[in-house]
Amino acid sequence: MVQSVHVAVIGAGAAGLCAARELMREGHTVVVFEKSDQIGGTWKYDPLTESDPIGMDPTREVVHSSLYLSLRTNLPRQLMGFLDYPFPENRENGDPRTFPGHEEVLWFLNKFADDFGIRELIRFNREVLRIERVDGRNDKWVIQSKSRGGGGGDSLFQDFFQAVVVCSGHFTEPRIAQIPGIEKWPGFQIHSHSYRVPEPFRNQSVVVIGFGPSAFDISRDVARVAKEVHIATRNPNVKSAKLANHDNIWQHPMVKCASEDGLVVFEDGSSVSADVIFYCTGYKYNYPFLETNGIVTIDGNRVGPLYKHVFPPALAPWLSSSLQAIIFQKLELQSKWVARVLSGKVLIPTEKEMMNYVEEYYQRLENIGIPKHRTHYLYFEEVGYSQWLAKESGLPPVDKWRESMYAECMKKIGNMEDSYREQWDNAYWETIIKGESSH
Ligand code: FAD
Repeated sequence: MVQSVHVAVIGAGAAGLCAARELMREGHTVVVFEKSDQIGGTWKYDPLTESDPIGMDPTREVVHSSLYLSLRTNLPRQLMGFLDYPFPENRENGDPRTFPGHEEVLWFLNKFADDFGIRELIRFNREVLRIERVDGRNDKWVIQSKSRGGGGGDSLFQDFFQAVVVCSGHFTEPRIAQIPGIEKWPGFQIHSHSYRVPEPFRNQSVVVIGFGPSAFDISRDVARVAKEVHIATRNPNVKSAKLANHDNIWQHPMVKCASEDGLVVFEDGSSVSADVIFYCTGYKYNYPFLETNGIVTIDGNRVGPLYKHVFPPALAPWLSSSLQAIIFQKLELQSKWVARVLSGKVLIPTEKEMMNYVEEYYQRLENIGIPKHRTHYLYFEEVGYSQWLAKESGLPPVDKWRESMYAECMKKIGNMEDSYREQWDNAYWETIIKGESSH
């Protein structure tokens, strides 16, 4: 029997909007809680930054978004939309580039929310403070929230739901590298979360740690004004050398230590005298509002146990999260799965079977030497995950070209290949799509 459930969605970023749409489509009633006054989450650029640039001070006022002003997507338009609601090929009177700027993604999410009537479901300026089961029942949850009072004090609320989907984002709480000697190193430290524009780094000597998309972009952005930029990565193939086509960017192996005289030393023994260290080292999962009596924990940045990165077995399907997915199409597939499981159209395994799956998954990660904090990176599941979600939700298979495109982009970024955005125009991608679809 198909059932309709009263569901709370936490957050009105891409994940929350998409979850709300899929839940509505399945006939559930939905309320979205959003602590800010706008849609878009990460994609709402905020020129403000936190008082502590590495985000360690627990008393700081948290800024949600980590966008920098120059940010363009690291995935092409073809991957930035939802499966049934694509990103426009070229925005009308706007940006003809394959990799759009962040403003266009925000515009797209607002349009998505309006086209599907999601805005009406959102309670803006409502920060969720606590989510907890009522009387130990899995299908009854209380949500305590606070509305930021305009002019007056805050108002507190309590609402009850049968199910909760947590979409509060996971790119806000900085994770930084531990560097021996850093306490005495005299320079300025900053996490990519607090980077906005390059100007403050004019004529500075900068070390950037990391080799994900933010390290790639920020190193190029800062190099426009900095004296020199040194990128330190864990990539085992990297040797200290100047990057081709750059006068002032070097790559190095990981940082070994830092010292009182301002030196930053790399693992191959080379060193630079640096003014700034940039941590492009990722983020920590953080759910301060979630009270599950220890059923869901965060251990070494592993959130678990979670079946397929979505359902905690002991609380499924009443609590779920969009935790792993980054790209919109995966968020969409996860949301469809959650919505259909809640309505009873799609079944999930028993709690014991899900727990067995999670334990085997952890074991497989350990066997290939993946640290806990990378649990939700989908190593060997990457290609199959979307297809699995689609199949499980009774949907047709996802086009293969989507996975090829994603893999290509990540490879280019990992290899620090410059200008990949400029080189890969729409025509290039068209050939990939046509080539694959003709098979
Ligand atoms: P968010 O967008 O972070 O939204 C979470 C929402 O929850 C926010 O609106 C927040 O205010 C709200 N919230 C949080 N806590 C509470 C609370 N207690 N109560 C109420 N509301 C709450 N992805 C791509 O596909 N392509 C890219 O090019 C790309 N580039 C990126 C660049 C950067 C620098 C970063 C940080 C991420 C990038 N991503 C990219 C990933 C991006 O995070 C996802 O695209 C997507 O925005 C994630 O959406 P989300 O809804 O999970 O989280």
